[in-house]
Amino acid sequence: MIRYFFTDKRGGVSEGPYRSFNLAFHVGDDAEAVRKNRAILERKVKKRVLFMNQIHSDKIISASDNLCECDAIVSDRDDLALAVMVADCVPLLMFDRHAGVIAAVHAGRAGAFKLIAKKTAAYMCERFGCDPKNIEAVMGPHIRSCCYEVSSKIAREAAAIFSKECVKRGRFLDISLMLRESLVQFGLKSDKIRISKECSCCNERYFSYRREGVTGRFAGVIYKEIR
Ligand SMILES: [Zn+2]
Repeated sequence: MIRYFFTDKRGGVSEGPYRSFNLAFHVGDDAEAVRKNRAILERKVKKRVLFMNQIHSDKIISASDNLCECDAIVSDRDDLALAVMVADCVPLLMFDRHAGVIAAVHAGRAGAFKLIAKKTAAYMCERFGCDPKNIEAVMGPHIRSCCYEVSSKIAREAAAIFSKECVKRGRFLDISLMLRESLVQFGLKSDKIRISKECSCCNERYFSYRREGVTGRFAGVIYKEIR
C-alpha cells in the first residue's frame, strides 16, 4: 500500500520564524531542533525518511544512488520514505501502485520550466518499468496563481513553454497547471492528477518564502507500507 501526506507548520519543536515543524537544515534554524523534527517524522512513518539537497534543477536520482544534490528521487524500496521540502514550490508526489514505485519531486518555477515532472515520470518508466497510464500524481499546498506574480519577462517565458492558461492576469503563474500539462502530455491520465487548492502564501498554516522570507520548510512525504 502506498501512503503519502503533506506536513504543515504544526507539531514540531522549532522556534521563531521556524515555528514549529521546520524540516530543513539550510534555512538558518537550530540544527538540533531540525533533527528532532525529522525524528518526529520518522517515528510517524516508522522508517528512514530520505531528504534531498534541492537545487532547482531537473536532476533525478534513484534511492539506491548515493544521495546528492537533486530535485527528484525515485524508489521501489519498502524501507525508505521519500520527502520533498517546500515553502511555495510545488511538492509533487508520484506513484505507480502496480509497479510499486514512488517518487518525490521538488517542482518550483525553475523545475517546471525544465520539465522536471515529465522527466521524472519518464525516469519511472525507463528505470522502474512503470506505465504512464498507471502513474498517479499528487501536488500538495504551494503558491497558487492568486499570489505568484512574476516579471513580465518570466511570464513571457512561461507562455512560450506552456499554454496561455498557465499565465493568469498578465503575470501570475499557475505552476501546478504547468506541471499537469506536461504530465498529461507524457501520457498520465488527467483524472489521476490531483492538485491541492491550498495556497501556501495565502494560508498561514504553511511556511511561505514569499510571505515570510526567513521561514521554515514543510514537506510532502511518500512511502510504501507493507501489510
Ligand atoms: Zn494565494
